[in-house]
Amino acid sequence: MTDPKLKTFEGSHILVVDDEKTNVMVVQRALQIAGYDVVGAGSAEKARACIKHQMPDLILLDISMPEVSGLEFLTELRGQSKTSRVPVILVSALTDTETIVTGLQTGANDYIMKPVEMPVLLARVQTQLSVAERARVLEVQAGTLAKLAHTDPLTGLINRRGFVEIYTSEISRARRYKRSLVVAMMDLDHFKNINDRYGHAGGDAVLKSFASIARAALRTHDVICRYGGEEFCVLMPETKMRGAMRVAERARDAIEKMNVMHEGEPIAVTVSIGVASAFEDDDEDCTEEALLERADKALYRAKAAGRNCVVSYSPEEGSKKPLN
Ligand SMILES: [Mg+2]
Repeated sequence: MTDPKLKTFEGSHILVVDDEKTNVMVVQRALQIAGYDVVGAGSAEKARACIKHQMPDLILLDISMPEVSGLEFLTELRGQSKTSRVPVILVSALTDTETIVTGLQTGANDYIMKPVEMPVLLARVQTQLSVAERARVLEVQAGTLAKLAHTDPLTGLINRRGFVEIYTSEISRARRYKRSLVVAMMDLDHFKNINDRYGHAGGDAVLKSFASIARAALRTHDVICRYGGEEFCVLMPETKMRGAMRVAERARDAIEKMNVMHEGEPIAVTVSIGVASAFEDDDEDCTEEALLERADKALYRAKAAGRNCVVSYSPEEGSKKPLN
């Protein structure tokens, strides 16, 4: 084949399933000449083994086969997550409308009649590979966009939008199964002074270091996000206050000891942390907003207590405002 467009998919792996050996050989030969990597299978059973060995990029499937028919095998392929989207072209001597319609409704991407005209088969294979490739590219782009929409570009942590999604589902899970859930609000102390003294580059360096040190001090299943500015929010699922306080203290200590160098000068950084829990007792209820408010109030108290400390929320003192 001299059509340059065909070269795009050269090397694509194609599985030809047909109980007639000659059919397999003829199609296989033509596809190989066109640059494809082709395997043949004389039955659905052999095709299953081929797929297990290497996932094809496209399948040419005969309809009339003993034991498992092409349509039955197609149903099987569409029912399995791994093969549900592999392009399948039915190749059949059956030319009645009903069979063609049934084949397409069963999930075939295309239908070619026997005797096969090779240029037509090659063109249709090319089309299906190209459609599949486009779908793959779009999927990757959509995934990247979704990730970008939920990531803070400076720190690489999830952003507030991403956090809210996780938080909403975690709090409803915690409520339903009566599992304790903790939110810790972290706020860098005197961050404005850092920005004033070291400029925004210095401030950014601090935020980046903070993110990686805090992430490392937390447990793998804790979720940390950049909540905004120099404020970070940590979600600790399946955690009670006592355990959460230990984790928060470890993070506070790691931040105090962290070494941020900016233009040859060390920047001292500390963090204040407010910790609040919900659903610790069986009869306790708490809304999304209320839990965040509790953590906020505890954070205010940590600031009021002189900063660089961890304070847990308690209802009696919850409404005290910070001193400055
Ligand atoms: Mg047959």
